[in-house]
Amino acid sequence: MKFDPKARELKIVTGCIVCKTCEFTASQIFQVEEKSLTAKVLRQPREEETAAILEAIKLCPEKVIHWKPKK
Ligand code: SF4
Repeated sequence: MKFDPKARELKIVTGCIVCKTCEFTASQIFQVEEKSLTAKVLRQPREEETAAILEAIKLCPEKVIHWKPKK
């Protein structure tokens, strides 16, 4: 099956340690605010941002970035 970013939902689940790795990897998508205890998804990624999102998922030390098919 073809990988379709638009059919997926990017989110961060419980367990983020605010290390900022995702923000460094894809700052247009992920943001950690100073007072926040978690990273946030600013918007859903475009197709051309797929590689950066997959890299952020790979680098997240807590494996809390999920990008699963929409239900
Ligand atoms: S890389 Fe993972 S643990 Fe680090 S700030 Fe992003 S979501 Fe949180």
